[in-house]
Amino acid sequence: MKNLYILELSDRYENQVRLPYSMGLIWSYCKTIQSIRENYFLKELFYYKESIDDICDKIIEPDVIILSSFVWNWGYNKKIAIKIRRKYPDCLIICGGPHVPHNDQFLYFPNRVSPYWGYPLSEWFNNHPYFDIISSGEGEITISEILVENLNERNFKKIEGLVIREKNNSFHITPFKKRIENINDMPSPYLDGTFDDILKKDKQFDFTATIETTRGCPFHCAFCDQGHEYFNQLTLLGLDKIKAEIKWMCDNEIVYVDNADNNFGMFVERDKQIAEFLVDCKLKTGFPLQYSTAWAKGKTLNSIEIMKILKKADLDRGVSMAFQSLNEESLAATKRKNMNEGTIKKTIDSFTVSNIGVFDELILGLPNETLDSFLDGIFYLLELGHDKFIGVYPLQVLPNTKYADPDYIEKYGLVLKETQSHSAYIIPEKENSKDIIVVGSNSMSHDEWITAFLYKTLIVGTYTYGSLQSIVKFLNGTHNISHKEFYETLYKWLILNPDTILGRELYKTRKSLDDTFNRDSHWNRLLPEISNHTWIHEEALAIMVMKNKNLFYEEIFDFIMKKFDIEISLEEKNNQIYSVVDPNINYPITVDNKTYKLNWKRENFSGDFPAWARECIWWGRKSSRYLTA
Ligand code: SF4
Repeated sequence: MKNLYILELSDRYENQVRLPYSMGLIWSYCKTIQSIRENYFLKELFYYKESIDDICDKIIEPDVIILSSFVWNWGYNKKIAIKIRRKYPDCLIICGGPHVPHNDQFLYFPNRVSPYWGYPLSEWFNNHPYFDIISSGEGEITISEILVENLNERNFKKIEGLVIREKNNSFHITPFKKRIENINDMPSPYLDGTFDDILKKDKQFDFTATIETTRGCPFHCAFCDQGHEYFNQLTLLGLDKIKAEIKWMCDNEIVYVDNADNNFGMFVERDKQIAEFLVDCKLKTGFPLQYSTAWAKGKTLNSIEIMKILKKADLDRGVSMAFQSLNEESLAATKRKNMNEGTIKKTIDSFTVSNIGVFDELILGLPNETLDSFLDGIFYLLELGHDKFIGVYPLQVLPNTKYADPDYIEKYGLVLKETQSHSAYIIPEKENSKDIIVVGSNSMSHDEWITAFLYKTLIVGTYTYGSLQSIVKFLNGTHNISHKEFYETLYKWLILNPDTILGRELYKTRKSLDDTFNRDSHWNRLLPEISNHTWIHEEALAIMVMKNKNLFYEEIFDFIMKKFDIEISLEEKNNQIYSVVDPNINYPITVDNKTYKLNWKRENFSGDFPAWARECIWWGRKSSRYLTA
């Protein structure tokens, strides 16, 4: 028997761990082949990050190792492969996943320096001599063919979809492999028992399980590996298989179900049936506690019908309107198209009327974006009435996207910076993987990028998270002060008043960015009094505002008096102060004949700040659980 080890390492978020779905699919299929069953012994399926030494110590006399790689584990995988290669020079080490170069990309850029990889792709194996084979694209069939061939003549060149290391670290590319035709014929790692041992062994974890209702994406976004033409054809998974997997998840008390569909709601009638089934199972078993997915682009109104269904079992986590930018030139460079203004307004209004959470997503650093166009995009959404969560993410460069094309980088003058992992909610450690972030371009200097980042931290941290939302709306409605005027005045005032609560938070954000970029420190902020993991900057700001609530509002009402010459009435002050969930208040509470309560089913927090931060600011951000009803 040959000793096989499989690794798909994910981050642990507090007690949450993700089941290794991709490698689960692959191993499930491999097990259907008799020669693999009879000749390989799966010694361990590693699925979360432990110390690299601990993982390597557990790998004993391996014959084959398979590593699934993406940004969050690429650094780990490389270090593990190096150690194993040194100790076991004859072990066959196979690497797959979205992070390794597609084999067609070698053909596109065989001898040029890719900004992502930092050297010509033709030299990939010179820089990674510890890997033997790259498996490109879907892995189920390709990996099984490698395992079978490893038992025979080891002539891997006859297998499609590979890049094989040869003598002197040169490489051989085999023909590109087409996507799997009938995905429904593939076995499910949930239903065939692949994950049973993990559930039995690691009872201490809250598990996240991935379902995949549709594979592929019809869009071509330049920053996303799914925009590659390889993934453009959609494959729909059969309803029976999906339902059986959901039932398994609920019966096995899976806490989070994450749907890997890139456009849930695109096939609205089928997707409604999936939502109905999920709700039925949750009402019977109490699981899952949460459901998340990426929603269909351009069809956001479809999502309302689905969310109404999910809401029946508290599985409504908000629907995303993934604009990424509201600047036409940036969208053109990114190969995206947004809804027109009328549809955006109608969509926001429909979500408000239906009391369904909706959130926006923007990317900072896209080509052709300027500081003004970026900020105008945020203010435009606020003026249209969007008062829910806005997720603003720095543009991360991924391999196998347009950003691996040196011409694209040069054309838009993108400034790239290698940093520690950008992931939030993690415990920082130097072993973590590296990310490459766009921190400027020929339309937005690095200093302007920093300014844009500080503005988004301020706006999302106070408007989205509620601490200034009611008052800004009041000033807008009764004194004609636009969102832009308010926030530009506030920003300038904070720079001059760094000792205020918000001024201090802005300074800490600036300092944190400086440490990330110039001192190889972690991304995001640590708040030791709340947790041992990091928080996104605007979340840290919102938490510290709540911690210093009384002084914060004193300073803000004073600022409004000084800068706008407006005395805010006690009633208006109370409208603002009580609109945000305060962990120290016992709800419901009545003030000025108005009653405020939590907008979801939850007991009071009784002063438990960490629980409030976790449930309202982190988990509840997309459904505005930080606002009172
Ligand atoms: S960003 Fe979303 S819509 Fe665009 S290609 Fe990727 S998965 Fe598809």
